[in-house]
Amino acid sequence: MSKKDLRSMTQEELKKELTGAGFPAFRAAQLFRWLHVQAVRELNEMSNLPGALKDYLGENYDLSAAAMADRQISALDGTQKFLFAMRDNCLVESVLMRYRYGNTVCISSQVGCRMGCSFCASTLDGLERNLQAGEMLEQIYEIRRQTGEKISHVVVMGTGEPLDNYDQLVRFLRLVSDENGMNLSQRSITVSTCGLAERIGDLAEEQFAITLAISLHAVTDEKRRRIMPVANRYSIEELMEACRNYFDRTGRRITFEYSLIHGVNDLKEDAAGLAALAGRVHAHVNLIPVNPVAESGYERPADEHVRAFKMELEKSGINVSIRRALGRDIDGACGQLRHRQLSCC
Ligand code: SAH
Repeated sequence: MSKKDLRSMTQEELKKELTGAGFPAFRAAQLFRWLHVQAVRELNEMSNLPGALKDYLGENYDLSAAAMADRQISALDGTQKFLFAMRDNCLVESVLMRYRYGNTVCISSQVGCRMGCSFCASTLDGLERNLQAGEMLEQIYEIRRQTGEKISHVVVMGTGEPLDNYDQLVRFLRLVSDENGMNLSQRSITVSTCGLAERIGDLAEEQFAITLAISLHAVTDEKRRRIMPVANRYSIEELMEACRNYFDRTGRRITFEYSLIHGVNDLKEDAAGLAALAGRVHAHVNLIPVNPVAESGYERPADEHVRAFKMELEKSGINVSIRRALGRDIDGACGQLRHRQLSCC
């Protein structure tokens, strides 16, 4: 049987575990700091804990520890891609991006993905397993450790569908914003989902101050089903209702992500449909010229076409941004680094 992962536990849970084993309650606060402030890799680095406690922890718990398996640095913009091997050797991809407003880490929420979006490299090898909350945190801590950089923003936009790993995602969000831990502002966190409508409803109840991004990519059910299998489970209507409810319950504006694919979803009628949907739920639109993945055969539209598509939306009063492509020289698309590594093993 696998052991409980220390870095995935709240301070309250640690307290229960430790006192249950006869250790004083105050040790839980010390342990939590080692796990989430100093974010050490080894129990023996926890210098103010007695040996007996460290022995007990070592025998009874796991300490999730991501080991760097590959690191690429973009010569163009300083973006860094990391490949981490987890305890069971599963490979997980994370990215450090530099923006004017601060350093952003993009983390993975699952090992692989089972959503099957046709343009995405992360889903090519299917889903291997869910990541634990501690393993999501480790990606941030390890990048911070390796680079010595301060991390001000986190996006859950790497490999995996975060709402398909709901419980661990919620645990991650609580831990990363815990004032006794990394204490990251929830406003600096974005969670991106392909649109599991029921889970969006659950997340609304949690009342986090995070930004929720919906990967929309098409504005009719028929077209969306062609590129995103999840559209067979939830119609756009159901998704819009979930978005509306999320906005009403949390007061947080939703973002629609829209990957522009040449000749597929970049027509004038697509822009009109997108403007109508975004207007309905007060969403901000983020256009992402598709990152071509060899297996998909999709192409990105010309830059001037992307700008024209943006203007169409703006004419309808929609707030639009175009995502800058970072790290084009280092396996740009999501999941490509991991996929390449798996394919050559
Ligand atoms: N499963 C989640 C998060 C992971 S993907 C989701 O679907 O939102 C993060 C974003 O990148 C999503 O909007 C996804 O659709 C988009 N994406 C994936 N592959 C892409 C590619 N090749 N080009 C452009 N965007 C891509």
